[in-house]
Amino acid sequence: MISCGLLQQLKEWWDCLIDIGPGLGYFPNAKKTWLVVKSQHYKEAVKVFKDTGVQISKEGQRYLGAAIGTDAFKENFIQTKVDTWVSELQSLTGIAKVEPQLAYAAFTFGLSKRWLFVMWTMENITTKPLVDLFSDQMIELSPEDSEKLRTSVTASKSMISNFKRAHHMQRLKGLKELIGPKKAKHVDNLCKKGTSAWLTSLPLEECGFTLNKQEFRDALHLRYNIPLKGTPTFCSCGQRNTLDHSLVCKKGGFVSMRHNQIRDLEATLMSEVCKDVQREPTLLPLSGETFNLRSTNVASEARLDISARGIWNSVDKTFFDVRVFHPGAESNKTTNIDMAFEQEKKRTYNRRVLEVEKATFTPLVFSTTGGSGNSDCIPS
Ligand SMILES: [Zn+2]
Repeated sequence: MISCGLLQQLKEWWDCLIDIGPGLGYFPNAKKTWLVVKSQHYKEAVKVFKDTGVQISKEGQRYLGAAIGTDAFKENFIQTKVDTWVSELQSLTGIAKVEPQLAYAAFTFGLSKRWLFVMWTMENITTKPLVDLFSDQMIELSPEDSEKLRTSVTASKSMISNFKRAHHMQRLKGLKELIGPKKAKHVDNLCKKGTSAWLTSLPLEECGFTLNKQEFRDALHLRYNIPLKGTPTFCSCGQRNTLDHSLVCKKGGFVSMRHNQIRDLEATLMSEVCKDVQREPTLLPLSGETFNLRSTNVASEARLDISARGIWNSVDKTFFDVRVFHPGAESNKTTNIDMAFEQEKKRTYNRRVLEVEKATFTPLVFSTTGGSGNSDCIPS
């Protein structure tokens, strides 16, 4: 929007642009150029720019994905956008019934980004229809769950306003007190590095990141510590079947599958950047060596999970051992259990690897919530 006194100067600027622009490689296109003026300057603008071909509007025009112009023009622009998003979100809710992970990825990486862009670039946007649609349909809620959600939103409101007044760590401490020690522990686990990575990754099939609808919903249940529906009361091993039990039960071989999958993924990633990557390498047999640490593994056929060259420097060998633990298990409820597991691994293998293999040892500790150990020692 410009004032009348500027019109003449603007015309001079345009003439100048036409004159010297092409010499500098810039070719102004009048048909694609819009001059947006207040309605009282419209006649004058038409007169001043009459032979230029420049388009003139007193309503407004789209500009870089947003709109400038009168309030009515902007409102209309936003309404059209919101209508489109609502319709796209409705399509996604249909897809979410059979492919929840794909629908989630499309929403996170596509639709919500366009939505955010307009919210950042324009004022007074009402996205209520979208929010309603999202909470009513995209997240499938039973009436009981909807009630819980409303209660949660109401409870969160006061927490959020409290949070705004307090320091970050104090806020977190307060929140943990509010939700109680059990849930606070779960929040701690979810704050570990990497726990949310699966929610911000594209479901790439070649990397094995795709989840079917059941797996995706189960993963959400695990994240929010909500019991899984339709599971038997007792596990086939005879123990009571809880969420925590299902993640530590040895029956069925899932615990070792989980370990092997992480080992193989780490080895595959290492083979892209390191040399001489081996899975389950056997350690050199001992010829009477002794170690200061009695906890050192001295078995003749001792094996570690991975070895590779070029991790910490260009030629030296590094051995890795993977541990996946479930932080909800009764025996793992102490603080900094991931660091304790790293230390335990080091006590078992570090001396032997350093002194016999003349190599280095790095423990790779992961939790079932998706977090990774302390690790200054995990290669990124
Ligand atoms: Zn069991």
